[in-house]
Amino acid sequence: MCYAIPGRVVAFEGNRAVIDYFGERRRAINEIKNLSVGDYAYAQGGFVIAKVPEEEARQTLDAWKELFFELKKRDDSFSRAPEEAKLEKFVRKAENGNIARKEILSILKTPDRDLNNLFSTANSLRKESLENACCVHGIIEFSNHCRNDCFYCGLRKSNARMSRYRMTVEEIANAAEHAVNDLGFRALVLQSGEDPFYTPQILEETISKIRERCDALLFMSVGTRSRETYERMYNAGARGILLRFETSNRRLYSSLHHGRKADFDERLSLIRHCKEIGYIVATGFMIGLPGQTLEDLADDILLTRELRADMWSFGPFIQHPQTPLASCSPPDLNLALKVIAASRFADRNAKILVTTALETLHRDGKRKGLLAGANSLMINVTPRRYRENYTIYPGRPDRDKEIERNISETVELLHSIGRAPTDLGV
Ligand code: SAH
Repeated sequence: MCYAIPGRVVAFEGNRAVIDYFGERRRAINEIKNLSVGDYAYAQGGFVIAKVPEEEARQTLDAWKELFFELKKRDDSFSRAPEEAKLEKFVRKAENGNIARKEILSILKTPDRDLNNLFSTANSLRKESLENACCVHGIIEFSNHCRNDCFYCGLRKSNARMSRYRMTVEEIANAAEHAVNDLGFRALVLQSGEDPFYTPQILEETISKIRERCDALLFMSVGTRSRETYERMYNAGARGILLRFETSNRRLYSSLHHGRKADFDERLSLIRHCKEIGYIVATGFMIGLPGQTLEDLADDILLTRELRADMWSFGPFIQHPQTPLASCSPPDLNLALKVIAASRFADRNAKILVTTALETLHRDGKRKGLLAGANSLMINVTPRRYRENYTIYPGRPDRDKEIERNISETVELLHSIGRAPTDLGV
C-alpha cells in the first residue's frame, strides 16, 4: 500500500461528499453515482476516487488508527508560536485571508537569523488549517520530445544531445495501472514536453484506457495545447491539470521564450479556462530565474492565489548545461523555502507541493520544504529505462532510484515528521 487511507462518507453537500477520517472532516468532489452516507471511499486531491468495500476499509483503518494519533502528536511537536510581533501580525492576517503584497515581500526578505521562526510559524499555520494531511501523487513522464525552445528547459528542441523517447499508449497505461493497482497511488500526473505526436485523440485514448483499468485522479501536464484539447481530455476522464505560468513577469516570460509575449497570455488564459471547465488546477512558477526579483516572486505568489490554484506547484530553477542559461546559478535554498512559507501565509488552505527541483537543490529539500509550510509531494513512477532521459534539469535524485525504494523513503520521511495520508479536501 502506498499513501492514502479511506474515510467514511458522513454527508453530502451539493456535488461534494463530506468524508470523516478518525473524527476529522474533509470535503471532496464526488462523481460516483452510487456513493451513499455510511460508505467508505478513497479521496485524493479533493476528489472521491473510489468506493472501498467496508471490510477492506475497516481493516485498513484498524491498522492505521494507533499510528494516526501518534503521527498527529509528532506533527504537533514541530509547531511553535511566532516569536516576534511582526510575525504574529502576519499570522492574524493569514488567518483572515488578507495577506497583501507588502507583507509577502517582507516575508521574502526575512533575514537568516529569523528563518527558523518563520518556517515553524508557516508550518503551524499549515497544521491549524489542514491538520497533518498530506497527499502524495505519482508522476509518469511519457515523452521528452518538445516543439518549444524554452531557455531554461533541457527538453528544448535545440538540445540535440538528448536521447528522445515516446511511450506508447499501452506503455503509459501499463505504468499507470502498476502505480495504482500495485503501488497504491490514487492520483497520477501524466507529463511530457509539448509533443504534438500525442494528438487529442491519442491523449483521449490514453486517458480512457487508464480510467478503464484503474481508479485514479488524473492530472495532465502537456503544456499549452488548444482549449478544445483540454476539453476533450476532461471528457475522456482527466480531472486535473498541471500547467505553470512560469513567471508572472511578462517581460521575463517573453525573454525566456524567444520574445513571444502572446504566449504568456495564451498560457494564462488557458489556465483560467481549465478552471472553468472544472479541472483541479495545479499551477505556479520557477524561483531564481535570471533577472527575477523578489517583487516578481511576490507577484508570482499573488498570481497563483488569484488563479485560485487548487495546488501550488513551484520550485527552484536549476541550470541545464545544454541551454542558454547554462551559466546561471540556482537560487539559495533559503529563498526557495521562504517562497513556500510566504505562499502558506498567502493561502493558509493551499495544497503546496514540494517539487523534485527542491530536492535536487538540497538533499534534505523535501523535509525542509514540508517543515516550511508545504503539504504535498510527487513520486516519480516513470519506468526506469525512460526516467533517466527526462532531464528538464540535471541531477535529479530520483533518476535511478527504484520506485519502491523511493516510496518507502518518502513514507518514512512523512512518518518522521508526523504526516498522515488523509485527503486534504477541497
Ligand atoms: N511541457 C509541459 C511540462 C513542462 S516540464 C509544460 O509546458 O507545461 C514541467 C515544469 O518544469 C515546467 O513548467 C517548468 O516550470 C519546470 N522546469 C523546466 N525547466 C526547469 C529548470 N531548468 N529548472 C527547474 N524547473 C524547470
